[in-house]
Amino acid sequence: MIAGRIDPAACVACGLCERLAPALFRVILHRVAVLRLGPRIPASLEERAWWAAEACPTGAIHLSQVPAGGSEGEC
Ligand code: SF4
Repeated sequence: MIAGRIDPAACVACGLCERLAPALFRVILHRVAVLRLGPRIPASLEERAWWAAEACPTGAIHLSQVPAGGSEGEC
């Protein structure tokens, strides 16, 4: 499982993540992207989440592996 976080200071609201993974990301008020489903990324959307994180022009999307039964550790 992975967890996600968007750095609001880094996000420039370009909308790329929303276009790549609309089930996961949404740009609100033309100002910042948020995770639609909260920090936990469903397994079925993990590939999309990594794709969007790699494509984000400012590196605002941070994904972390969540070990089974453990705490989150940022990659
Ligand atoms: S791709 Fe990055 S900068 Fe663009 S809206 Fe998404 S999080 Fe913000």
